[in-house]
Amino acid sequence: MIRLIRKKHGYKLSHILTFIVLFSMFIMLIVTTITGYHAIKNSLTAQILFSNKMQAKEMGRTVQSLLLSMKENMNIAAQFFSYNQYSEEELQRQLDFFRGTTYLFNSAAVVDSRGTVVSASPGGLGMKGCELYSTASRQALELQKPLISEPFVSITKQYTVLVSHPLTDANGKYKGYIGGAVYLQQANIFQKILGEQGRDGNDGSYFFVVDASGRLMFHADRTRIAEDVSANAVVRNLMNGESGSLSVVNSQGKRYLAGYVPIPETGWGIVYQTPQQNVTSATMKLTEKMSLYAAPFLIVLIVLSLWVASKLSAPLHRLANAASSLHVNDEALKGIRRHRHWNYEVNRLNKTIAAAFNDMKKKTEQLLQESRTDPLTGLVNRRTMDSITRMWIERDIPFSIIMLDIDYFKAVNDTCGHQVGDQVLQYLARVLQSEKRSSDVACRYGGEEFMLLLPNMAEEAAYLAAERIRVRIEADISPTGRPITLSLGVSSYPHMADSLEALFETADKALYAAKQQGRNRTVVYGDK
Ligand code: GH3
Ligand code: MG
Ligand code: MG
Repeated sequence: MIRLIRKKHGYKLSHILTFIVLFSMFIMLIVTTITGYHAIKNSLTAQILFSNKMQAKEMGRTVQSLLLSMKENMNIAAQFFSYNQYSEEELQRQLDFFRGTTYLFNSAAVVDSRGTVVSASPGGLGMKGCELYSTASRQALELQKPLISEPFVSITKQYTVLVSHPLTDANGKYKGYIGGAVYLQQANIFQKILGEQGRDGNDGSYFFVVDASGRLMFHADRTRIAEDVSANAVVRNLMNGESGSLSVVNSQGKRYLAGYVPIPETGWGIVYQTPQQNVTSATMKLTEKMSLYAAPFLIVLIVLSLWVASKLSAPLHRLANAASSLHVNDEALKGIRRHRHWNYEVNRLNKTIAAAFNDMKKKTEQLLQESRTDPLTGLVNRRTMDSITRMWIERDIPFSIIMLDIDYFKAVNDTCGHQVGDQVLQYLARVLQSEKRSSDVACRYGGEEFMLLLPNMAEEAAYLAAERIRVRIEADISPTGRPITLSLGVSSYPHMADSLEALFETADKALYAAKQQGRNRTVVYGDK
């Protein structure tokens, strides 16, 4: 991981670019994950709501045809029991047979018009002879019509739905009813059809059925049967006869996606619902998958961006390095010019900096030249002379010096003017330049005082060189129209002096001696 260290001079460009890239990627990842998550969740929710509504409708049709076949069975049984007169045993046998073969009811009974049980199956229930007071039984006797009752608590203490059909004698006179009971809290036909999903089903989806007053008739959790759930929004819609789908929180605080459909004939309602948690976990899984698919692209993108970032910052680094080493060598400047970069700004910067440094270099050289030389004669000045001689001493280079002074120069100025005096100085400089070896240095170190530095030359040879100059000047016509003369003092290092100061002093002394001895002559220090 790249650490952003606040340097004294600011953050590195490559670090800034890297940070921007990683930060934008991070934000992009979060945004796409969140939007992806919501899109998947919404689409899954809509899909499940739709499919649950379909499931409820399908089950509604099945339950309706079950109710129809219950009623039809009762009808056939009623015909059978109306037209045949049976002994008690025979009646019991036929009823047992009927209940056993239809497989629809938990119990069946023939009841007379006063509500007394004539025969009941299974016989072991002990209902025979009992009078039935339940609302369902009374309703059947009053209506004298085929009936599917609301759930009620029966004489056998069972929460029951009664399916009944009236019985008539040969003359068509009403003589009671035959009824089949479904015990809702026991294993029953509804349970077989609606299944037990939700208790151990795979995705937690399950059916439940409510009666017209909003109580549970069927539920995977059988202990909840008869519980009033009319507060549930789905159940309220069902009680209004509506079908549809809804996201609801059930009485136990859990959110479900429910599809529901009413059964108009009985006022019951069928609900098929899936826990919302399923959608959430499926969405999480899909989002994770999506992120995994995106990961390689993201990595490629990050690597690519980092590469571009480094390519962008590299020339700036080069530029900075080149700029900082320009005073040492100007190879760096050539390097900058050679590198063409694909980025427009970098190219412009390269060009501008190269031009600026070129300009600066020229100016510096010019300034350097000016600081080293005397403007009137173009000879090396006193400061430079000092540093050259100091360098020779440091490197143990033996050398001689010749100190020169024009004789009676004041008189030149006085008679010919200051301008001619200057021309004489320039003239002498030219002579010195032409007479010296290439390694020698000619220097103007005072008004009309000059010095010749002669590396690797002993005082004898220096004397000869001084004499050659003196003789030439003596013979030449100067800008005054006449020859001038020079006095010269010679000394050498390290033979005659062991320091720069001592060397100049000895040369000065020799020059002074030359003046004393009558001028136009050369004196070597120590000679008389
Ligand atoms: P001496 O033989 O003893 O050297 O006599 P001199 O007249 O040359 O005496 P000195 O060396 O003291 O003279 C220095 C004179 O040099 C004084 C000044 O007028 C003149 N001078 C110094 N610098 C310049 C200059 O740059 N241009 C001109 N024209 N004259 C200068
Ligand atoms: Mg002088
Ligand atoms: Mg002089």
